[in-house]
Amino acid sequence: MGECSTYQTTREKIMELLINAETPLTVEEIISALGLRTTPKEVYEHLEHIAKSVRRIYNNTRILVMVPPECRSCGYVFKDLEKPKKPSKCPKCRSEKIKPPAFKIVRIQG
Ligand SMILES: [Zn+2]
Repeated sequence: MGECSTYQTTREKIMELLINAETPLTVEEIISALGLRTTPKEVYEHLEHIAKSVRRIYNNTRILVMVPPECRSCGYVFKDLEKPKKPSKCPKCRSEKIKPPAFKIVRIQG
């Protein structure tokens, strides 16, 4: 995928949305806000890439933050995720009622 396209790519739209969002957004909310025809899995992949590149793109002034997923049954918080995703099951109570992670791009200086 080229980095020099003249139109706004899906990834750029997601970044702009997460910069302007007042509260962190879930992948479902991102898809609906942008009217995307992509699967949640593809949006998580975009977020993974954004997490790695957003500092460079914005000269170290912005980072992607993730509100970690949480088990709705026992309150377990998935703090140690290596990359953005929605876990399928709680390791503590085995519940599949998982509150999905939410994302926002925040300013870290200036
Ligand atoms: Zn649980």
